[in-house]
Amino acid sequence: MRHYPVFLDLTGRTIVVSGAGEVAVAKLRLLLKTEARIVVCGTDPDPAVSDWARQGRIDLIEGPVAAGHVDGAVLVYGANGDAALDASAAELGRAAGVLVNIVDNLEDSDFITPAIVDRDPVTVAIGTEGMAPVVARGIKARLEEMLPARLGDLVRIGGGFRGRVEQLSSKARRAFWSKFYFETGPDAFAEGAEAARDELERMLAEGVEVRRGFVHLVGAGPGDPELLTLKARRLLHEADVVIHDRLVSKEILELARREATVLEVGKKGFGPSWSQSDINALMIGHARDGDRVVRLKGGDPTVFGRLDEEIEALTSAGVPCEIVPGITAASAAVASIGQSLTKRGRNTSVRFLTGHDVAGFADQDWRSLAHEGATAAIYMGVRASEFLRGRLMMHGARPDTPVTAVENASRPDQRVIATTLLDLPHALEAADPEGPVMLLLGVAPRAVASVPEEARKAL
Ligand code: SAH
Repeated sequence: MRHYPVFLDLTGRTIVVSGAGEVAVAKLRLLLKTEARIVVCGTDPDPAVSDWARQGRIDLIEGPVAAGHVDGAVLVYGANGDAALDASAAELGRAAGVLVNIVDNLEDSDFITPAIVDRDPVTVAIGTEGMAPVVARGIKARLEEMLPARLGDLVRIGGGFRGRVEQLSSKARRAFWSKFYFETGPDAFAEGAEAARDELERMLAEGVEVRRGFVHLVGAGPGDPELLTLKARRLLHEADVVIHDRLVSKEILELARREATVLEVGKKGFGPSWSQSDINALMIGHARDGDRVVRLKGGDPTVFGRLDEEIEALTSAGVPCEIVPGITAASAAVASIGQSLTKRGRNTSVRFLTGHDVAGFADQDWRSLAHEGATAAIYMGVRASEFLRGRLMMHGARPDTPVTAVENASRPDQRVIATTLLDLPHALEAADPEGPVMLLLGVAPRAVASVPEEARKAL
């Protein structure tokens, strides 16, 4: 793009046109639409130029352009239809630091005037870098047909209401104006300006569907779409924006509407990730735009989901939010091996542990976990497996304590690795899991027919 289009504010600025004949008249017709002060320098003025001068619409100076005329001007046109006269006007202009256009001489011009479709204040400028004026004219003719002759008047009426519509959220504003300009406004305007104003008043009184942004912090469950709650499924379907972690499965994301914006902010293992403050800003930004945001997290958002940071950020930004629980990976993993998390006679409590926390491998109450029958669901435990084994055995856990690792619980690629505390690190290393893994301490798979097919194969 050699020529960059801009719309120049000419109010109260001076434009100098060198030349007062036919060539100048063509330029002046357009320039007279602006609010500029127009100075025309030339001899033998065209009758139209003389008329404009008499009407006070231009200042006509009979004679060639001089340095004093161009001083302080914003544009200079060489419109004499005479190369020598135009060149000297251009030289004066440039000496004064003013942008110069020589009519029909692209090479010696600093700027060019585009073809224009004028529905002031709607103005369409068309340029072809001077390469194909016919193309510009063709486009102009089509646009002239396409844009109603009184579009400008309609826009001016709308413009008068901008202040009042400004009160709405940016999303509601967009909805308001597109309804007015593309649906109700043109019909009303066909009956006159008053009818168009009445329509705007009516729309303001009735209100467009003004939605307040809202964030639902939704549990996506462990992966199987059928393990979504009905509420999660409905909210996904209604969302304008879905912001999800990497753990959320593709099948679940497909439940979002096609028009929804779906953004992944996940982090892979210990790899680079979105910072929490960027995620917060993203949610808040969309909610402020009036979007229905679903913040989708794997499993249950309240379990190792860094939920509180997000709720606090939303609350302090004044964005309303709600938690929608989901099925946590521990429930899915234990179900997949036909067991329960609590069992009469075995354990009266179950613990949800994380293998690592912000400070590294997470410390726990090892003594009580080492007891026979103690049951725990260990999230993010693969890397910590050796550490876990060491701590538990140090506190007296039996080496043959059952541990079951479930990779991709509830997903088609689910894998069950049944082992013992002693063999845990080795079994994990041999299995080399790629998906998320739940370690179930104190439970072995139940070897019965109710165990799902995939799990049975892996046993
Ligand atoms: N909020 C989630 C947990 C997030 S922490 C929930 O409630 O499930 C991430 C850890 O969850 C993973 O490292 C893994 O230990 C576990 N996890 C998540 N989905 C899993 C799945 N489908 N199978 C096994 N473990 C899973």
